[in-house]
Amino acid sequence: MIEQGKATMEKITSLAKRRGFVFQSSEIYGGQNGAWDYGPLGVELKNRIAQNWWKEMTQLHDEIVGIDAAILMHPRVWEASGHVENFTDPLVDCKKCNARFRADQIPTENLNEKKCPDCGGELTDTRKFNLMFKTNIGPIEGGDNAIYLRPETAQGIYVNYKNVIQSNRVKIPFGIAQIGKAFRNEIVTKNFIFRTCEFEQMEMQYFVKPGADVEWFNEWRKRRWAYYERLGVKMESLRWRQHGPDELAHYAKDAYDVEYLFPMGWKELEGVHNRGQYDLMRHTQFSGKDLQYIDQDDGNKKYVPFIIETSAGLTRTLLMLLCDAYDEEKVAEKGDADDYRTVLRFHPNIAPITVAVLPLQKKDGLAELAQNIRAELMNDFTTDYDQGGAIGRRYRRQDEAGTPFCVTVDYQTKEDGTVTLRFRDSMKQIRVPRSELAERIRREIKAYKRTV
Ligand code: ATP
Repeated sequence: MIEQGKATMEKITSLAKRRGFVFQSSEIYGGQNGAWDYGPLGVELKNRIAQNWWKEMTQLHDEIVGIDAAILMHPRVWEASGHVENFTDPLVDCKKCNARFRADQIPTENLNEKKCPDCGGELTDTRKFNLMFKTNIGPIEGGDNAIYLRPETAQGIYVNYKNVIQSNRVKIPFGIAQIGKAFRNEIVTKNFIFRTCEFEQMEMQYFVKPGADVEWFNEWRKRRWAYYERLGVKMESLRWRQHGPDELAHYAKDAYDVEYLFPMGWKELEGVHNRGQYDLMRHTQFSGKDLQYIDQDDGNKKYVPFIIETSAGLTRTLLMLLCDAYDEEKVAEKGDADDYRTVLRFHPNIAPITVAVLPLQKKDGLAELAQNIRAELMNDFTTDYDQGGAIGRRYRRQDEAGTPFCVTVDYQTKEDGTVTLRFRDSMKQIRVPRSELAERIRREIKAYKRTV
């Protein structure tokens, strides 16, 4: 009998720490709010997600190219983008217990009556708080030396749009993709890595002809939905939410969020925005440079392209995939002490380790044989080797790491050259000749469908 356990943020956080996915930043000093460190499995998972997105968003398209812009940009960029003026959260503090809230995240009654939702004490007036981290460049503080840590990667794309056209001969419609760090001085950072002050974004800005924007906006919504399907996400845990007129950002013509049903409820995962001509118009105005596109396919007509943006959080996607993959499965009935295994059902394309090779015993040459088999697989797959402890316990460790395939080397391997291939999801085991192992794993990855 199989019973599915529920993912809670406590369980996910604890598993993430126990298995080396994510650690609290500067933990030995009590931790740093809003910052997290990625451990050995976490960095593999993050890299896999990034590689998968990069392939999907650049390499599978002729007309999309990548860039990697600097985090530090000219301060005027953030005036042009509207961040200096508008990138603010409304903030209130409790005069009694000193708790701090985002005014848009507490019940309206509390705000109207100026009453703290935690202790009932009196709240301050709402004030605007800019989310950008400001620092200084060079040894002198203040004035002209102020500079910001970028709060989004998108502006690095807009300011390079002409460079890309001139150096790469791309033609409209075309896209520029980027993965990188972004920083926001978030007031409320809870729910593990969901909302952090330092995070990573995966953004693709698609430049289209005025008038073609609605069609491309719909097209990118479709493509982004299909991407999550291919990642093997439970599609009933995803939905679209359109921004209402009051909620639309200052730049947006239309905006939809992809939301995921996290343990704490439906929350944004990615935004798909029709940004219109806002950004390029503003950069034209602030930089004094002509940012029009010359359309050689349309009688050298000049125009400022419309921009369709797809903006996903890399670290937030990692959290989503941890939640989505998390499962507790009852593997044996033992009355009061039923035996459960914790398993991360990652798609093999993003699992941090694809194949773990395990000798049944260390002795009798099995360890050496297993090392040799691992060496054969190393170039094609991300592999792990584990020889410590009972085999059942080693399988459980790999289940918790989300490793889809285990290869066990035993005495029969020495005799007939076959190994046991064990599948994470079904726990089924089959014998495969060593010579066919890599090909078999490749086929299994291609055909993978999540069934649990
Ligand atoms: P919110 O309203 O929740 O603050 P946002 O609408 O400002 O977020 P965007 O600016 O559209 O978010 O950012 C695009 C994506 O970047 C988000 O969908 C999310 O995945 C990610 N992201 C934004 N802020 C954070 C953060 N503080 N920590 C982690 N990821 C973030």
